[in-house]
This record gives sequence, C-alpha cells and structure tokens, in this order.
Amino acid sequence: MDIVKRFLNYTTFETTSFEDQGTRPSNPLELKLLEELKIELKDMGIESTLKDGFLYAFIKSDCSKSDTLFLMAHVDTSSDASGRNVKARVVHYEGGDIELGNGKVLSPLEFETLENHIGHDLIVTDGTTLLGADDKAGIAIIMDYLEIALSKGGYPNLCLCFSSDEEIGEGTRDFDIDFVKANCPNNIYAYTLDGGDIKEFNYETFNASAAKVKVNGLSVHPGSAFNKMINASEIVQKFHSLLPKVRPENTSGRRGFIHITSMESKTEYGEIHYILRSFDKMELELFKKQMISAQDRINEFYNKNIVEVEIKDQYSNMLDEINKFPSVIEFAHNALKANGIDYIDDPIRGGTDGAHLSFMGLPCPNLGTGGENYHGIYEYLDIDQMKKMVDVVTTIASYLK
Ligand SMILES: [Zn+2]
Repeated sequence: MDIVKRFLNYTTFETTSFEDQGTRPSNPLELKLLEELKIELKDMGIESTLKDGFLYAFIKSDCSKSDTLFLMAHVDTSSDASGRNVKARVVHYEGGDIELGNGKVLSPLEFETLENHIGHDLIVTDGTTLLGADDKAGIAIIMDYLEIALSKGGYPNLCLCFSSDEEIGEGTRDFDIDFVKANCPNNIYAYTLDGGDIKEFNYETFNASAAKVKVNGLSVHPGSAFNKMINASEIVQKFHSLLPKVRPENTSGRRGFIHITSMESKTEYGEIHYILRSFDKMELELFKKQMISAQDRINEFYNKNIVEVEIKDQYSNMLDEINKFPSVIEFAHNALKANGIDYIDDPIRGGTDGAHLSFMGLPCPNLGTGGENYHGIYEYLDIDQMKKMVDVVTTIASYLK
C-alpha cells in the first residue's frame, strides 16, 4: 500500500489518550488502531501479539543476519487538540500561506520552519483538529518499511512494537522487556520513530527532578500581627526570588531550568511544586543545592523550620545508557548521511519512551518522521521526509550483521 494512503487511513482513527482514566489503554479507541495494525500485519503474513496496550510483532531474518532491528511508534495522540473526525488533506507547497479551512491559516510568518518544506508535498488538517502525525507518521514509516523489506528480502530479525498512552507519559508502562529480549536474538538495534524534522536525531534527554516546597506560616489576626505573624504567602515569594532565574521560557538549547508547576498559599501554609531539568547532572545537582540553601537562609532568619524542601529524582539523561552501545548511534548517523541528510544531534528538552527503554537495558535513540507543530491544528507532515525516513530505516537494517 502507498505510504500516504496508509498514513491517511491511520488519521481516521480517533486515538486521543487521557490522563487518570484507570484503564490501559486510557482510551479504548486506541485499541481499534492496534487491532487494525494486527490485521494489516496478518495480511502481510505476520503474526503479532496484542497485550497490555502494546502490539508486538517478531519477524525472523530471511538471510544470514543474526542481529535484530527494533522499531517502535505510538498509536495515541495528544489531548491538547481534538483528534476526532480528522480530515487530512495533501497539498503541494510552493511557499506562502496555506488555507487550512475554518478560518485558519498555516503561515511561515508564524511558523518559520514551513520554509524548509518548499517544493514538498505536505499533509495538513482542516483547521479543527490535530493531524496525528505524532506518531501515526512513525507507524506508517514502520509498516511501509516492513512491506518493502518483505518484498525485497535480505532483512535482519525484526521486532516491531506499537504502543499506546505515550502522550500521557505511560508509553512504556507494562512494556514487556523480557518478552522482547526472549524473542530478539543477538544485538538489538532499537529506535523509536517519534520525532519531528528528519534531520534531527535524538539520543539525549534531560536529567529530571521534582521538588515540593512546604512553607509553614504563623497566622495571627492582622490587627495584632506585629512581630508575630509569619505569612506563608510572603515566604513563598521570598523563597522563589532566591532561586536562579532559569525558566523554560528564557532558556533553550542545552541550558537547564527550574519551573514552577503549581503554587498555592494562604497565611498559614503554602506549597510550591517545581520541576528541575538539565542535560548536565552537575547542573541539576547545583539546582538542588540552590533550593536547599534558599530553605536554609529563610529558616536561619526565622530561627525555625519554616521552609521544607523535598526533592525526588524522576528520570535521567539516556545518553549514559546509549553510550554503552555506541553502534546504535553510529548506524543511524551513517544511514542519515548515506541518504543525503545533513543531520544534527538534537538533545530533547523532555523525556522520551526511548529513554525509558534505554534504562530497561534497550538503548533506544529517536528518529524523526517529518512532522511539525505537533499537538495542535497547525500540525503538518512532509510526505517527502516521511518517505526518506523509510529509506533511512532500510539503510540501517542493511548495516545489521
Ligand atoms: Zn509522539
């Protein structure tokens, strides 16, 4: 099947994932797409296993190769925009604005990266929903690669994995690493296909911690508060002002940040929740120390424990794990180059499913799919890039022994 037709079919499946549903997948509609993929695999003669919100397919090499290529993409889409009744449309882009419909315009004045796609065919929305290229483009690439591999032959052992609930941070929950390892002989070269522009290659994520700051005030009637009241709302502000001014909105590239996710306070008691992020473990440790020293400064001033900082580590930069198996990076670099792509190693200012897999012992960088502007109505997919990524995957497969 043509890859564009394949992708357009996937966009017609509503697969929005939602937090706190208590089910797996969080939206039963996600299963419909997993079942569709199971049928498509079966039509190609491939058996697959659907369990715990994952579809796994293992395909034995048809030649003398003994290593395994593992490819993963997620079926769900973000709840930030509607994923119901997606009406995707192909346009040939020659520059300027694209009228999406419903009064919405995709313009390079607002989205400069559009200029990188001049002369290409794009898939866009009708201005009312997201597109779902994140990550249905990844699925289309994997399925198209499989179809080509089966018809041309000479492929390594393959493990294909389609996951659910990635957008709510549960894309690797219940992932059966033992099942995968038991069915994948020799070295496993693992990649998620869940990125944007295909020139961006990701194998670094943040080191992440979360902090909860409790502020114990002392409430007294304002009329008789002199020298007695300790207003937690004032302390909350004081505490925050003692931290370095690195915020998500004023940092980029490799700079880390400290970000308030919520803050609540009355005179008696206040609470601030932070996330701390850095690519550099040392910088993250420094952020933690600065929180503790802000706590100590305030407590020393009042000579009692007004502020209590609790810090929890959340996840680590996957680079350390990836470095244990450098050929997974080398193969991708070489394949991107071989296909004429001037790649950049682009650290992700967040976490990825591949990061979790890496810490499970399956080093797993992330490849792009050609999509842009994810999670909203301005999302679009570059068909030329999506097709190019199929070539890249084919080239990677050819390197496996
Ligand atoms: Zn994604």
